[in-house]
Amino acid sequence: MKVKKDKVKLITLGCSKNLVDSEFILAQLKSNDIEIVEDEDLAENVIINTCGFIEEAKQESINTILKAVSRKNSGKLKGVYVAGCLSDRYKSDLEKDIPEVDMYFGATDKPQTLIGILNELGVDYKKNLVGERSQTTPKHFSYLKISEGCDNPCSFCAIPIMRGMHKSKPLQDIVTEAQKLASKGVKELIIIGQDTTYWGFDIDRRRRISEVLKAVSEINGIEWIRLMYAYPSRFPEDLIGTIRDLNNVCNYIDIPIQHISDNVLKSMRRGITKSNLVGLLEKLRRDIPGLALRTTLITGYPDETEKDFDELVDFVKEFRFDRLGVFTYSHEDDTFAATLPDRIPRKEKLSRQKQLLDVQKEISHANNMNMIGKNLKILIDRKENDQYVGRSYLDAPEIDQEVLWGVKI
Ligand code: SF4
Repeated sequence: MKVKKDKVKLITLGCSKNLVDSEFILAQLKSNDIEIVEDEDLAENVIINTCGFIEEAKQESINTILKAVSRKNSGKLKGVYVAGCLSDRYKSDLEKDIPEVDMYFGATDKPQTLIGILNELGVDYKKNLVGERSQTTPKHFSYLKISEGCDNPCSFCAIPIMRGMHKSKPLQDIVTEAQKLASKGVKELIIIGQDTTYWGFDIDRRRRISEVLKAVSEINGIEWIRLMYAYPSRFPEDLIGTIRDLNNVCNYIDIPIQHISDNVLKSMRRGITKSNLVGLLEKLRRDIPGLALRTTLITGYPDETEKDFDELVDFVKEFRFDRLGVFTYSHEDDTFAATLPDRIPRKEKLSRQKQLLDVQKEISHANNMNMIGKNLKILIDRKENDQYVGRSYLDAPEIDQEVLWGVKI
């Protein structure tokens, strides 16, 4: 006789790496006949996969926990389970401050966390499901996480505190997972990790991300492979040829540089100078035809002077990235930067962020105007009314631009 198991709502906050973790949890829950509901009102148990990266993300995670706890206190929920980075980083504080949560789990101890959650829900961990995910992205694209943790010493970053040191996922596991996704109709794989260019270094002291791209590119049905979170210092040279020469690897690289002034790069412990960084970026653009370069910057870092910021604005104007994201500095406990005075007011951090985004808006508009008349292969993500919305190889999902097709201008 089938035992009715409580319905579960899984809330995923934060980055695509957290999303992948949630998809593994979902696959296990479903294989144990646990009904997954989208509507929280129908759920008997809620699992919250939290983010603990920066202030705003932490606040969103706490608000989500408090909302679930108040539903539990009003008898609308049986259980609230919290996992992910915030839970990993602040477990003892959370257990003290929000004791109504049934169980807090870490972010790093994967199988244990998973097993723990399942046991709490009265079901078993299915070993035969390793590499099996229950997709939450649209069927045609998926994230492929190739490693966990990070060995880099970036002064502002708390991720190594939450996710631990770098650990490469074995190549065979990556390929098995990618094959399963391809067999379900995935056309685009987005390669993620904290530092994807570091893959393999913990195995034999060599950065072998090219091997991962080659192995994944041989999988039938995968038409686009997109590399995210490349790290600029000690960039593996062979990767340039791999991206250029493999047809189904997009000529697209997401390479967060965070800043450009030597003063700030040094204080951020990025392990690279301005001239080496510019040299690398120019080489990538020179050696990979039609390359789309995406980067991320931080404004208002404690040691950022107005002169440093002006240097950054000039560089963004000059180099003209294809895609750009800008974060304001967040003073994170237990990071090296937290020992520095957070002297730049929030208002100024936001104003610097806006200045950079305004510069980029001009650049993006000019780049788009240059695309008029060009033929591009478009991956359709969805249909809205009578028009199609998609992306070219220049655009990663959820963070970059979209192409509207069927719009009368
Ligand atoms: S490489 Fe990224 S994840 Fe690693 S410490 Fe630096 S900012 Fe954090």
